[in-house]
Amino acid sequence: MSVEQAVAEVVTLASELIAIDTTNVGDPTTLGRERAAAEYVAAKLSEVGYETTYVESGARGRGNVVARLPGADPTRGALLVHGHLDVVPADPAEWSVHPFSGEVRDGYVWGRGAVDMKDMVAMTLAVARSFRRDGVVPPRDLIFAFLADEEAGGFYGARWLVDNRPELFEGATEAISEVGGFSVTLADDVRAYLVQTAEKGGLWLRLLARGTAGHGAMLHEDNAVAKLAAAITRLERHRFPLVLTDPVRELLTGVAELTGVPFDPDDPEAAVARLGNLSRMVGATLRDTANVTMFEAGYKANVVPSVARATVDGRMLPGREKDFEAELAEILGPEIVREWDSLPSVQTTFDGALVEAMAAAVTAEDPGAHLLPYMLSAGTDAKSFQRLGVRHFGFSPLKLPPELDFTALFHGVDERVPVDALEFGTRVLDRFLRAC
Ligand SMILES: [Zn+2]
Repeated sequence: MSVEQAVAEVVTLASELIAIDTTNVGDPTTLGRERAAAEYVAAKLSEVGYETTYVESGARGRGNVVARLPGADPTRGALLVHGHLDVVPADPAEWSVHPFSGEVRDGYVWGRGAVDMKDMVAMTLAVARSFRRDGVVPPRDLIFAFLADEEAGGFYGARWLVDNRPELFEGATEAISEVGGFSVTLADDVRAYLVQTAEKGGLWLRLLARGTAGHGAMLHEDNAVAKLAAAITRLERHRFPLVLTDPVRELLTGVAELTGVPFDPDDPEAAVARLGNLSRMVGATLRDTANVTMFEAGYKANVVPSVARATVDGRMLPGREKDFEAELAEILGPEIVREWDSLPSVQTTFDGALVEAMAAAVTAEDPGAHLLPYMLSAGTDAKSFQRLGVRHFGFSPLKLPPELDFTALFHGVDERVPVDALEFGTRVLDRFLRAC
């Protein structure tokens, strides 16, 4: 059974991938650490007979690897299975283990990328290798893509490849990747596996206020720092309107059915509050959000500067783009200069043959499983692939222990993934890709 070979190597693959530091701080000119990880992945694929394509996406060292496994029915659209190789920074001083050790301890693989998303990269690699070794012919073409720069919007990764090398993804109609497929324990032996069917759009705003420069010891009426601080405070106090979108309604209805606690559509916040740790993420999908993340002004204690700058991470629900921009303009006022990078929202329906194949694969490995859709409050490479008309699902299956605060691990300290969750996910992925 090839799946046993995949299960046997998935932990080593995850651990070795984590040990390759692929930190992405968002500056394309000084980076390129994905190259080593891409070469590792390419070597693992070539070893079993894949033909791989290595591409640097717009800057030196931004390495990506793509490989294809032909399926039985070439007339069907291909399934794209993609994962990003880069990770966000980690400060070793804050961690219990070194974030780039990939240490296996206490039943977990530890390190930056353990859940975001070298876990799924390792599971994909393990299953892809076993399929090739055993000559498995999947129902349709599988395209495996391992990508750079997701953590900075994919402009030097998926987005670049979609714009410059679309032939690598030719024929792809559907895709799976992060963030979804993980279990949430609702009661003894009742687990919801949340499949991502939507993600919010983003607006990364650069704000600028101008004032009059002058001596800090004199009367001063036109202070850029004070102006910008006041605008940011108005924004932080603002609550965007509550909108109950389809994926959130379906999630809360599904949870209500599984727990027996009724869901009142007029009060979704009460239902979200009952979700425990998960409410941090689901709560952010009830409305648009705007958090200030950077603030910069001044250069000396006794000089009032003429400019102040801030960065705001804005995230809006699908369909709210125009209203969100209008509300921001109103709150910030005409004096604050705004520039932005915008990222589109993503949304599909939770139905069809691929969803059925997911459900069958998960329940075969976990009889207590129920699949529910949800919306991600952040963004993924799905934003880039939807430019090619690819339908996206966040499905990186993991069966998690009930006490684990999984969503806190994303970009968090002591990021880690249970060994048995990786092995479980590999079995599910193997079943799913044989039936997709
Ligand atoms: Zn990620």
